[in-house]
Amino acid sequence: MSAIWEEVPRDENLIKHLQEIAKDTALLHGVLMRTKESPNSPEVVSYAPFTMFPTRVPRTVFNQALAVQTHFNRLVDRVSQDPEFLEETLASTIKVDDFTARLFNIYREVQRESQLQPVVLGLNRSDYMLDQSPDGRTSLKQIEINTIAASFGGLTSRTPDVHRHILKVANLLEERNQILDNNPAEGLARGLAKAWELYGSERAVVMFLVEDVQRNIYDHRYVENELWKKNIPVIRRQFEDVCRTGSLDQSRKLFVDGREIAVVYFRNGYMPQNYSSEQSWDARLMMERSLAVKCPNISTHLAGTKKVQQELARPGVLERFFPDEPETVAQIRATFAGLYTLDMGEDGDKTVAMALANPDRYVLKPQREGGGNNIYGQEICEVLEKLKDSSERSAYILMDKIQPIPVQNYLLRPGDPIGLKSCLSELGVFGAYVRKGKDMVFNECVGHLLRTKSSEHADGGVAAGVAVLDNPLLF
Ligand code: ADP
Ligand code: MG
Repeated sequence: MSAIWEEVPRDENLIKHLQEIAKDTALLHGVLMRTKESPNSPEVVSYAPFTMFPTRVPRTVFNQALAVQTHFNRLVDRVSQDPEFLEETLASTIKVDDFTARLFNIYREVQRESQLQPVVLGLNRSDYMLDQSPDGRTSLKQIEINTIAASFGGLTSRTPDVHRHILKVANLLEERNQILDNNPAEGLARGLAKAWELYGSERAVVMFLVEDVQRNIYDHRYVENELWKKNIPVIRRQFEDVCRTGSLDQSRKLFVDGREIAVVYFRNGYMPQNYSSEQSWDARLMMERSLAVKCPNISTHLAGTKKVQQELARPGVLERFFPDEPETVAQIRATFAGLYTLDMGEDGDKTVAMALANPDRYVLKPQREGGGNNIYGQEICEVLEKLKDSSERSAYILMDKIQPIPVQNYLLRPGDPIGLKSCLSELGVFGAYVRKGKDMVFNECVGHLLRTKSSEHADGGVAAGVAVLDNPLLF
């Protein structure tokens, strides 16, 4: 085993010297983001926030996360094909959570129709933190799995070379040689390409359904350009464009702006705010009913809800999806943290009592994505005191709080002064799969993402301005 640092360098002169080099290198390698001031213009761009140095990650847990990914792909896919499970699991949630209820209505509506498109494409990212138990053991614990609009597979394909260069300039050659190659963009694009090919029309295009504020466009572009390399045409459209120009023909082929759509790749549509009008919901339904391959389709979107995650952690539930695969079940279950129902009834009452007694041990989560929605500490008590006797509490789940060991690093963010920060990291693993009818024709782990944030923030991702891009340094 090679000897790498225990801690990042702290020499002030070195840090000062590296700072400018680091930022220029990120720009040179295309680790880019548009600015808050002009999110829709390519005239002014900056670097996407990142760490000055990579972060140590134990090789065993890293490999564990990669190894379980194809199982998670199959799990998500199987959950998405189990209407009874989805109905039962989300029944209490959809009574009190409007957003999930609207998604569920679309699901019910399309369930009633014949399923025209046998091809299913899943691009997901399973996120983990490394929990440190009091006896010093490190274990991989899943935060959640994102089945819609999982981001940063593009930009993170470019960060290894940035850290390699910084480490070379710092004369840390041992560490430099340990930086892993990583190219999720290429793997995600292979999944998209496979779905496009199975759709079977040369003329049809892949449509990225995108937000109106497009700060993170370069992350998309890496995936997009991988498709163009394969001569697969890509268009970028918003809900509004689909509302205005979208239609289904008699065979339910989807057309937008006169182009036939083979694959709809949702990089939007996961938050209530993404549906700014009733027409946006109509557009989602229309896309869902169409012959186009949806990534994700509505049932796979629902399979990624936090309520489903909590239900999967209940004893015996994984066995429902892998009846003959005890090894698979064990591998998946090993990554689960404690997850607790807040549905009305005895179990839910127990959860409330547990949370009120020790709020700092838990995270309270609503059915939302995109960061910044979770509830921590004393605020858990405030929310639960208010909701504990009402069915409204089933809009949430409770989860054990993962306790990683903070590590020191320097965070580089446009406009922010640099400083040594105590940081926590989150490891994401990208999965891609394609199913045609009953056959999994593609199922891969296609790369990883390490994000690091100052430990003063409980919540929030890169897009939310909290976490920054990083690379694992295995030891
Ligand atoms: P979202 O779907 O909004 O991204 P997540 O479940 O991923 O919600 O949580 C957002 C962030 O909150 C995570 O990136 C992580 O930093 C923090 N977090 C979530 N769950 C936990 C947990 N169980 N323990 C510690 N931190 C957590
Ligand atoms: Mg999420």
